[in-house]
Amino acid sequence: MENKVKIFNTLTRKVETVIPNVEGKIAMYTCGPTVYHFAHIGNLRSYIMEDVLEKTLRYVGYDVKRVMNITDVGHLSSDADTGEDKMLKGAKRENKTVMEIAKFYTDAFFSDCHKLNIKTPDVVEPATNCIDEFIHMVQTLLEKGFAYIAGENVYFDTSKLEDYYVFSSQSEKELMVGVRDDVEEDENKRNKSDFVLWFTKSKFDNQELKWDSPWGVGYPGWHIECSGISIKHLGEYMDIHCGGVDNIFPHHTNEIAQSEAYLGHKWCNYWFHVHHLNDKSGKMSKSKGEFLTVSLLQEKGYNPLVYRLFCLQSHYRKPLEFSYEVMDNVAAAYNKLLKRIASLKDEGTVDKEAFAAWRIKFEDAIANDMNTSMGITVVYDMLKADMNDCTKKALIGSYDEVLSLDLLKGAENLANMSNNDGNVAENSGVSPEMEEYILSMIEERKAAKKEKNFARADEIRNELLEKGVALEDTREGVKWKLV
Ligand SMILES: [Zn+2]
Repeated sequence: MENKVKIFNTLTRKVETVIPNVEGKIAMYTCGPTVYHFAHIGNLRSYIMEDVLEKTLRYVGYDVKRVMNITDVGHLSSDADTGEDKMLKGAKRENKTVMEIAKFYTDAFFSDCHKLNIKTPDVVEPATNCIDEFIHMVQTLLEKGFAYIAGENVYFDTSKLEDYYVFSSQSEKELMVGVRDDVEEDENKRNKSDFVLWFTKSKFDNQELKWDSPWGVGYPGWHIECSGISIKHLGEYMDIHCGGVDNIFPHHTNEIAQSEAYLGHKWCNYWFHVHHLNDKSGKMSKSKGEFLTVSLLQEKGYNPLVYRLFCLQSHYRKPLEFSYEVMDNVAAAYNKLLKRIASLKDEGTVDKEAFAAWRIKFEDAIANDMNTSMGITVVYDMLKADMNDCTKKALIGSYDEVLSLDLLKGAENLANMSNNDGNVAENSGVSPEMEEYILSMIEERKAAKKEKNFARADEIRNELLEKGVALEDTREGVKWKLV
């Protein structure tokens, strides 16, 4: 098959055509969540764009195997092995065990992914399942002279590498070394950039998860997880490794260091990184301001797929600025698009030639460094083009294999709602739960009016208004819209 998917490779700092190690097959790895809290929608931006990458690769015909880890041990609050243990912090906060916290937030993460139509990777592996693999890697690194024991921990010796800062230019290298001067000093480290492979002398006395190892009872460092899990499931050669730009340093830098030292050859050819989600004041994070989750967006009346569309409208390599104002605009655009699709008739048969031509247009857009906003433009252009509705519907179904915006299902729901005894949704950019709630409130209000309980009817109207939903009584029935 023709290799035609181009992405920006952080390793070479160029947009490159992905050429897999094995023709027609892609081995892909994604750094998974640290399951100590709900996922922030900023983190979920990365998972949405990685999902689009996987689906783009499948769309052009690759057989993709994608692996993701779940970090349930070893991740400290600073990626540079300092600060509190994130899992312990979560357990303490909620008065639960680490494994209870891990289970709860793993489920919550996949529930968010499900709402955002993010496909679950082919293999999902919690770090705590792979302790033997990590120990084997650390042992090999010690034998090969790339690691040392100090203060009862095992460290990777970055001075043994020709080039440790593989991702960066010279000026950034200096900057990175500078940044590391600020973090609390670990006197066991021979070089500032060395990192922990295995902790035995934990500064956390109440560390719940510990395992026997040749170096004493302890637990793995965070970075070794992704190397161990990816090599376990994808073998010694990987095509694409994904993550957020936050992961470039030190996490991915350390992954490359230890994996290539362990394997003795180049490990992964393409590094795909998704940029930050910002608000007006700068980078959004769990610790700053309102903690934005998918559930919060739903509570505010947004369909999670509106957030997916919001992400798709911008390029993955550009910072994206979040605001409710923009979300409102995207919700309106999404609704308008669904209405347009709902107006397509089922008549005719698919025009195969037109279908193929328009499928290629879409493929060209998304295969070109994942130009998702261009992909969406193709959707609009196609809807305007001169061909029968049946072909258009078929194309929408095809595009949605990658976009995953429930375009046909959403349009169908909208059409059904319009037929539903006059309750016409003016704006369906809300979650199905919210929609159900609105419709049940409209029904209750209708019943209250019938019983001449106008106080209750007004109460319902005000309750909905507080949630940002305005009702309008029209001849065709009650209409609602988001305000
Ligand atoms: Zn990772």
